[in-house]
Amino acid sequence: MKMESQLNIIFLPYPTPGHMIPMVDSARLFARHGASSTIITTPANASTFQKAIDTDFELGYSIRIHVIPFPASQVGLPEGVENIKDAASLEIMSKIGRGLYMLRDQIVVLFHDLNADCLVTDMLYPWTVDSAEKLGIPRLYFYSSSYFSSCANHSVRKNRPHDGLESDTCKFSIPDLPHKIEMTALQLEEWKRTKSDTNAQFFDAVYEAEKRSYGALYNSFHELESDYEEHYKSTMGIKVWSIGPVAAWINNTIKGQKHDHVEELEPEWLKWLNSMKNDSVLYVSFGSLTRLPNAQLVEIAHGLENSGHNFIWVIRKRENDDDDDDDGDSFLHDFEVRMREGNQGYIIWNWAPQLRILEHSSIGGIVTHCGWNSILESLSVGLPMITWPLFAEQFYNEKLLVDMLKIGVAAAAGVKENKLWMNLGEEDVVKRDMITNAVKVLMGSGEESMEMRKRAKKLSDAGKKATEEGGTSYNNLIQLIDELKSFKLSREVSKSKLEN
Ligand code: UDP
Repeated sequence: MKMESQLNIIFLPYPTPGHMIPMVDSARLFARHGASSTIITTPANASTFQKAIDTDFELGYSIRIHVIPFPASQVGLPEGVENIKDAASLEIMSKIGRGLYMLRDQIVVLFHDLNADCLVTDMLYPWTVDSAEKLGIPRLYFYSSSYFSSCANHSVRKNRPHDGLESDTCKFSIPDLPHKIEMTALQLEEWKRTKSDTNAQFFDAVYEAEKRSYGALYNSFHELESDYEEHYKSTMGIKVWSIGPVAAWINNTIKGQKHDHVEELEPEWLKWLNSMKNDSVLYVSFGSLTRLPNAQLVEIAHGLENSGHNFIWVIRKRENDDDDDDDGDSFLHDFEVRMREGNQGYIIWNWAPQLRILEHSSIGGIVTHCGWNSILESLSVGLPMITWPLFAEQFYNEKLLVDMLKIGVAAAAGVKENKLWMNLGEEDVVKRDMITNAVKVLMGSGEESMEMRKRAKKLSDAGKKATEEGGTSYNNLIQLIDELKSFKLSREVSKSKLEN
């Protein structure tokens, strides 16, 4: 029997940018280090990163996308709506989820037919641990956030320190962590505060599958959160590899290549940034999913304007929302015109080329919802942050940035509630003065800001080193590939013994 020496890794990303982007970057990194990477996804999702994969392929790396049709009409969705970022409501989100679930059997067959040696699958596909077991290959659990949030989340699930408190606003400490971390119950996901819920059952399956996985892959790096990397290793009982920051790593390998994608025309936003002084512009973004209510957009607008600082702000508008009245629209339109005329601010509607903006020399800070990718992307270019968590594990990430790493200013002190953007109401609106104050602290030249800048710069250097030859993330990736090769070899040897 002929032994196939190239490692064949199948990646199955969950179709939301915050999960898909880092997994695609990881697949590209594996291919750059000798593995053959196949990414399974649906047509509209494939189109968002096809160009990058084609470029890698032309450069000689073994990487491709395996496209499977999305059953849009069967779940009552228009063609092309296959990504959570296109879901303007919970209903659409759940239809996308149903569509994905319908693909399950087809994907199980594909794992076999594509001759997978290893599965790297998103945390939200717990069933893939069974597929890997049946095929006798490793499944790597892909978690697209911090070790810190993962450890905190596991402790809260296990110990339920928020049960029996007088109110949802009382502080509690998260048990068994390396540091004392205080939260309120309101900062936990809604389904975690109540016990009986289908979400809770689904996540029980996710974490059960995590424990049964061969190991986990983290887009983080040792120097960033080593205590929590260790804590994860010692409490989860599975292997883990930190290979981040993946976006900065893959982009650094691309720079200077002859196939590098060059923009023909200088886009408007770039012209505007080019006209700004170094470190003077605040980038404001709430990630790929969030669409804030108009009342909140109005407060942000005033808060930014009153701060007197320059900003570039990405706004994702709600559709068919009662809240989105004509008054709100015309306010934002007038605001946009006023800011451009006064040269104070620039608005990007819907989707921004975030990585390109962040690496521009005029950017001096970011307002972030604490999505892990945005955190790593801004940290990779040494930017301090204003933290404004909204939902999921973002409140844990805020603790990491503000209390532990000390590179973040919290946008809103006081009670805040973990809520999906579509559930935000009047009571959740962060007022303009709070925003102005946070912007002044971060973008001003006071000591607090200077110290945060220095710390962010240090972490950026550490991240760069981690992904260079000999660095921690670099070594982890090489070691993982070697280990998977040995696993493959011994599997093939035992298979050939059985056949003879
Ligand atoms: N992103 C982007 N342009 C946008 C919004 C988001 O390129 O206008 C990218 C961003 O660079 C990051 C990802 O989408 O890689 C968002 O992931 P994150 O974990 O920050 O937040 P999420 O969108 O999952 O809440």
